[in-house]
Amino acid sequence: MKNSSNKRNKNLSAFAFLAVVLLLMLIAGDIKGGAQSVNKSSSAMGAAVFITLYGGTEDNADAMISAIKELDEKCLSPTVEGSDIFRLNENAGAELEISQKTAEILKTSLEICAKSDSALNVALGKLVKLWGIDTDNPRVPAEEEIKTALETADLSKIILNGNKAKIGEGQLVDLGAIGKGAACDIAAETAKKLGVKAASISVGGSVTFVGLKPANGVFSRFSKNEGVQWSIGIRDPFGPVSETFASVKTGPASVSTSGNYEKYFEKDGVRYHHIFSPVTGYPSDSGLVSVTVFSDSGLLSDALSTICFVLGYEKSLPVLKEYSAEAVFVFPDKTVKATDGIKDSITIKNSEFTLV
Ligand code: AMP
Ligand code: MG
Repeated sequence: MKNSSNKRNKNLSAFAFLAVVLLLMLIAGDIKGGAQSVNKSSSAMGAAVFITLYGGTEDNADAMISAIKELDEKCLSPTVEGSDIFRLNENAGAELEISQKTAEILKTSLEICAKSDSALNVALGKLVKLWGIDTDNPRVPAEEEIKTALETADLSKIILNGNKAKIGEGQLVDLGAIGKGAACDIAAETAKKLGVKAASISVGGSVTFVGLKPANGVFSRFSKNEGVQWSIGIRDPFGPVSETFASVKTGPASVSTSGNYEKYFEKDGVRYHHIFSPVTGYPSDSGLVSVTVFSDSGLLSDALSTICFVLGYEKSLPVLKEYSAEAVFVFPDKTVKATDGIKDSITIKNSEFTLV
């Protein structure tokens, strides 16, 4: 009797041991199979690129970074010789063949420019260059110079005909307001094609979330709850780079921030930042310090954040509605306003800020 009970206990222990070994092997298999997160950083478009993948591999992340770099170097860069935008700017007035991707992005951008009543104006290159905010020698130009630069920013002079494009003589195209969002889009498309389960892609002030992030940091065949929302921090416009004042919970979405703290110079106590009013030719003064837009596409979020920054709170609301986008606005007195669709997802972390 005692012997058979001992034997049964031994068998049970052996079975339990085997079960634990099998479980460990399965977990190891999960990890080997790419269930652990992959993190990669790089730089493109003059900005830092960060990629985190869940249920994806290092190779997947490399392919996403390559897609971003290719978009920059072949299509959108104003400085890389041979890129479509570089060639269009160099040959203003002449019709050129451009890649399908550039044509697609230019077409969408022009449509958004029109819907924004030209608050977004991709023909502002001459003005952007004149101020030189992004250079070592920024300056406040003379009124006459600003007027002349603004005269070149006529959007109707940009002609697209399939894969052929032409910009007006004396004109410079600047896609700085949408490029980083478009970069997020192409990385997200690449991730989806490669079967990555969830990804966070960040290029400068633009972020795209693909899928839902795994609850415990890894996708596991043992967890029932496969995905949870992402949490994104909104930068404190008055604090250091790493400081955020709020966090927002979101599902798969693209998020973009435009603010007066990103690129600027100061002269005689005045801050001159990098987002211009196409009406005055001066840095836009619409009563905001930053605006963060949530939408379905990177390009759209990026375009809309610039538009909202130029238009200010009240005038932004109908444009956001038109695109079913949501936004968080920060004002100089640290009050914060948000559109109805996102208000409940915000947690204010810094008590100096008030959500009104
Ligand atoms: P963002 O940081 O996305 O708001 O984009 C700002 C960048 O877009 C600037 O650095 C300029 O290159 C360009 N830009 C500035 N103002 C405008 C504007 N009103 N419309 C289109 N592009 C602009
Ligand atoms: Mg933008």
